[in-house]
Amino acid sequence: MSFERLNLVKPLLDAVAREGYTTPTAIQQRSIPHILAGKDLFGCAQTGTGKTAAFALPLLQRLMMEPAGRQPGRMRALVLAPTRELAIQIDQSFRTYGAGTTLKTTCVYGGVSQVNQVNRLRQGVDILIATPGRLLDLIHQGLVRLDTIRYFVLDEADRMLDMGFIHDIRKVVALLPANRQTLFFSATVAPEIRKLAGTILSSPVMVSVDPEPEVSRLIEQSVYYVRKEDKKLLLNHVIHNHAIGNALVFTRTKHGADKVAKELNRNGISAEAIHGNKAQNRREKSLQGFRSGTIRVLVATDIVSRGIDIDHLSHVINYEIPETPEAYVHRIGRTGRAGIAGKAISFCSPDERKYLKDIHKEIRNEIPVIGQHPFNGIPEHQHFN
Ligand code: AMP
Repeated sequence: MSFERLNLVKPLLDAVAREGYTTPTAIQQRSIPHILAGKDLFGCAQTGTGKTAAFALPLLQRLMMEPAGRQPGRMRALVLAPTRELAIQIDQSFRTYGAGTTLKTTCVYGGVSQVNQVNRLRQGVDILIATPGRLLDLIHQGLVRLDTIRYFVLDEADRMLDMGFIHDIRKVVALLPANRQTLFFSATVAPEIRKLAGTILSSPVMVSVDPEPEVSRLIEQSVYYVRKEDKKLLLNHVIHNHAIGNALVFTRTKHGADKVAKELNRNGISAEAIHGNKAQNRREKSLQGFRSGTIRVLVATDIVSRGIDIDHLSHVINYEIPETPEAYVHRIGRTGRAGIAGKAISFCSPDERKYLKDIHKEIRNEIPVIGQHPFNGIPEHQHFN
């Protein structure tokens, strides 16, 4: 798939080529045609997926096709972003992609004097990128009017809600003309996000992309240090104490998977092992049981993890640390999908510490350690041997 196939006009194609983009990302491929067609859109995607270009490119194109008629303090497109940093980044993206057009963009945010921002608004712009507080401030002073807005983008709606902007958003939306195209982006689809989206979008197209192979920020990771011989006790403890509904447990070997499943069943937790030695129809049956909830824990090896596609999996447990960071990222990516949060818990015995180090390098982060648990019999200094 190329950018040409998306029916973008030459100045925009030239801009993406200058940026060195050769292929549109998943969110771009799936959103741009709908936005060009004038549809409202709910995009479930996080930063890093190329979502800014997914809305900036088609918006620039639509704005280019319409007569400009710029007026002081009025604009045709409004993008709301939760933070000043994000607003500046989006403004920069519009400038980069729109370099070959005559469209003008500017950005307003709090924490700095409004003088320069107001001067630019007075000269007239086509696109305004704003944080909610400063925007409302300028509106109250009569320096910005939203009655000519035809395109409205709400970016990182989940962060907006987390930061307490809900009332500000509602105030802004109330001032927008009803006849507009709205694009709504969020990394999650929690109920309050759906509710907000429902009030500002009209018959939207839903586009959702998984952030693989990067680690989704929806996955909460943690690690327990534990002796190899205590792992079965820890697994029981974790399943009981974390109110775990369903969990996918990974082991390094088939034999290990069988042993763990047996031990869980002995403790009254319905579990089945799936690995390369089990026939395909047997594996399918186990998966079905897991999906329907009759089996609470599925114990698997890496070989079969690719075939495991389960909606709403809340927990992945690494009973053993995988030998490669790629396997770790892949395993934990079974949860935290489609915008729903998940947890990834890893059990690390002293001999597995080396694998954990490689994982930390790969994910460019240290997994938080759960120090308080009944099987933490290993003195702290030994963890680092
Ligand atoms: P975003 O998710 O919008 O923050 O974009 C993440 C990064 O991906 C930015 O640095 C963009 O410049 C870059 N990017 C966006 N679209 C593409 C593409 N089609 N090909 C390569 N890089 C891209």
